[in-house]
Amino acid sequence: MVFTHDVLVLGRGIAGAVFAEEALRRGLRVHVFDRPRPGQASAAAAGVVNPLVLRRDVPTWRAAELVPLAAAFYTRMQEHLGVPLWHPLDLVKVFPTSREAEHWARAMQDPASAPFMASTPCPGLDAAPLKIPHGYGTVRGAAWLDVGRLLDTQRAKALADGWLTETVVDPASVLPIAGGLRIGDRCAPWLVRCEGAFAALPGLVPVKGETLLVRIPGLHLEQLVHRGVFLLPLGEDRYRVGATFAWNDVWSGPTAQGRDELLRRLRLLTGSDVEVLDHAAGVRPTTRDRRPLLGAVAPHEAVLNGLGARGVSLAPWCAGHLLDHLFGGRALDPEVALRNNLD
Ligand SMILES: Cc1cc2nc3c(=O)[nH]c(=O)nc-3n(C[C@H](O)[C@H](O)[C@H](O)COP(=O)(O)OP(=O)(O)OC[C@H]3O[C@@H](n4cnc5c(N)ncnc54)[C@H](O)[C@@H]3O)c2cc1C
Repeated sequence: MVFTHDVLVLGRGIAGAVFAEEALRRGLRVHVFDRPRPGQASAAAAGVVNPLVLRRDVPTWRAAELVPLAAAFYTRMQEHLGVPLWHPLDLVKVFPTSREAEHWARAMQDPASAPFMASTPCPGLDAAPLKIPHGYGTVRGAAWLDVGRLLDTQRAKALADGWLTETVVDPASVLPIAGGLRIGDRCAPWLVRCEGAFAALPGLVPVKGETLLVRIPGLHLEQLVHRGVFLLPLGEDRYRVGATFAWNDVWSGPTAQGRDELLRRLRLLTGSDVEVLDHAAGVRPTTRDRRPLLGAVAPHEAVLNGLGARGVSLAPWCAGHLLDHLFGGRALDPEVALRNNLD
């Protein structure tokens, strides 16, 4: 069988975008099908990379491996696309109570958490109009990825280079052929589904999130601050505030309830005037154990999904790992392999 491509990709949120970038870098012939639609998680994502679970002061899953790998991947991608995407920055956790401050101090003694934690003063923060009665700690290794710019810039390049078709792929249009699959006049030995929460995939739990874009004149923060919500500085007094988590009615879009909840939590951090500029909602493709879902789901079909609330840091590792599996014969890590994997 002569294939037009090595791999077809369905979906171009952060999962599909990163998978396509890595597959192309490895010299594979790639074609992506995608039609962004309301609820797309990546369109709403704040883009924060945070190596620490802030509720418990412990590292996120494989943070020591995944975060440096993500930094290297997105730095290379921004060079390739010619636009700034990856912005390392300090993440400050504001302690809501003195007990949390004590917990932080104890966690700093743990060799697993310590590399991601510091208690150094931030002079700009101390001078800012913020409510910080119990102090704060700093998370090391945090960053912000400009997901919107990554998707927009890659889209323009992909359309110009002819490897993206913007269409909804109907399940009936994915046709089996000898040794592979066909969509329209493109065929390959593998279709990789990066459909996010739109997928009907066992084990996937859709979780809605909302964020606000706000203006807070006079705050002048340079750090990413967390106290119940993230407050991400974007310049010119603008900040991204997020995010909510909701398990019901996940496709309902931005709601007054979500906006009020974000503003309520923001007021715990600052009494400054807040002007809401924009309001977004998306549906995270999560799993119960917070591990991604990788592997074959049918002959010649695999998934890269389950990126949950940490798509930015997980996507580069997942893309490389799935490519090593599909094209290099490497076994999937049992922690991420689908249980109904056909291998
Ligand atoms: C409010 C909010 C804030 C978040 N903040 C962060 C954050 O700060 N940091 C972080 O790391 N993560 C964050 N996340 C999580 C992150 O957004 C997700 O992990 C990630 O975006 C999932 O990407 P994905 O590509 O799997 O899914 P999606 O972004 O949903 O992309 C799936 C794509 O597939 C397309 N598609 C599906 N089926 C078809 C079809 N049949 N035909 C054509 N196209 C199809 C969809 O239209 C869509 O474009 C946040 C999420 C939300 C909702």
